[in-house]
Amino acid sequence: MHYTGTIWRPPYEAESLLLEVTAGCTHHRCKFCTLYNDLPFKFRMSPMEDIESDLLEAQMLRTNPYSRMLTRLQGKDRPEPFRRVFLTGANPFVLKTEKLLQIAELIRKYLPSVESIGCFARITDSVKKTDEELIKLRQAGYNGLTIGVETGDDGALAFMRKGYTSQDILTQCKRLELAGIEYGFFYLTSVSGKGNGESGAKATAKIFNQLHPFLVGPNMLTIYPDSELYQEIQNGSWKEEGELEKYRELRTLVESLNISTYFAAMGASNAFQLRGRLPEDKEKLLAALDGIISEVSEEELRHYRTNLPHL
Ligand code: SF4
Repeated sequence: MHYTGTIWRPPYEAESLLLEVTAGCTHHRCKFCTLYNDLPFKFRMSPMEDIESDLLEAQMLRTNPYSRMLTRLQGKDRPEPFRRVFLTGANPFVLKTEKLLQIAELIRKYLPSVESIGCFARITDSVKKTDEELIKLRQAGYNGLTIGVETGDDGALAFMRKGYTSQDILTQCKRLELAGIEYGFFYLTSVSGKGNGESGAKATAKIFNQLHPFLVGPNMLTIYPDSELYQEIQNGSWKEEGELEKYRELRTLVESLNISTYFAAMGASNAFQLRGRLPEDKEKLLAALDGIISEVSEEELRHYRTNLPHL
């Protein structure tokens, strides 16, 4: 398989075939982001020959009689056919509809068991696609996009140079919904900066509550020296929230959300993993957050953050 640089995927895509169709990010400007700094380019689409040869390799892996026999001799379970493909890169959904349809066609040709195709997406990726194109993409299997919206706080979106506004989140997600494309949100706790965590969470809930994400997945801001945000802090133009403020912000977010969604703080940036359905598990989640806020110290949480070598 062709893989370039660090491959990032949501925890819930662990069973999906990771197919490299892009590497890097078309935007590459968010001040806090260091995710694709290991690449020598900003964004690249894979040659179709590489995509096709990876699909052939995946097909061989799951269907070749020799590898099936080997698996049996090793006493392992027979591998299940792939049900889902996750396209790698920060925003493969930016590719032209025609290209995405060609990729879906190739996936169907080599892996007919695949039922859906997911990927990370930016809010801006659907802007240049018509409503009809979005419907075509849904029909071709694109579903379950993971969008790192980070926040609905317009001040934070502008400062961090996310490249869209809260109104854009509403407009584009409603278009996805109209086409039947489901999506989940990654939220970035602390993106609003010191003193603004709880107001940022309230502004975000106001936006999220008008939409239907299948997931709200908070990550916690962890600032690395090779980020632009680190320089902003050194220059004194931005201040990070304290660790307990980050948990108070998360509490406000949970409290303010009134939609039906899955809330899951997963991944290394969260010292505590929290999961539950909203609204059913709201009280349970709030109690867990209250427990963290009252029983864990700022120093302990800070120690966790500063000892995270990477995300
Ligand atoms: S859009 Fe995502 S991957 Fe691209 S720079 Fe921003 S945070 Fe990083």
